Amino acid sequence: MRAGYHPAMPDRGGTLKEQGFYKTPAWRRIRQQALQRDHYICQLRLSSRCTGIATEVHHIQELESRPDLGLSLDNLTSCCWYCHEETKTRKSKPKTISGVRVINITDGSDDES
Ligand SMILES: [Zn+2]
Repeated sequence: MRAGYHPAMPDRGGTLKEQGFYKTPAWRRIRQQALQRDHYICQLRLSSRCTGIATEVHHIQELESRPDLGLSLDNLTSCCWYCHEETKTRKSKPKTISGVRVINITDGSDDES
């Protein structure tokens, strides 16, 4: 279930994302600019499954912590889907252990779409 998008109404004080930030025309425009600037090439190369083809735009400084940079081209970097997922994975973990990588051995299993 999904609530409707109310641009001027931060209902229930949710995150910017929940408020529909990624649906705004302003975001879509800056997103395209970022992709074009980076020539649709993944800038992160974080994931071992990196495709090299940027389809996502990542906020270098998190949107929630720096909403003022949400539409700043300097704060955006183009990346592929896998690397974008990687940023989410890394973000959720405290950076305590470095140099440890989780290697996904199973192949061909589509766990999520
Ligand atoms: Zn990538």
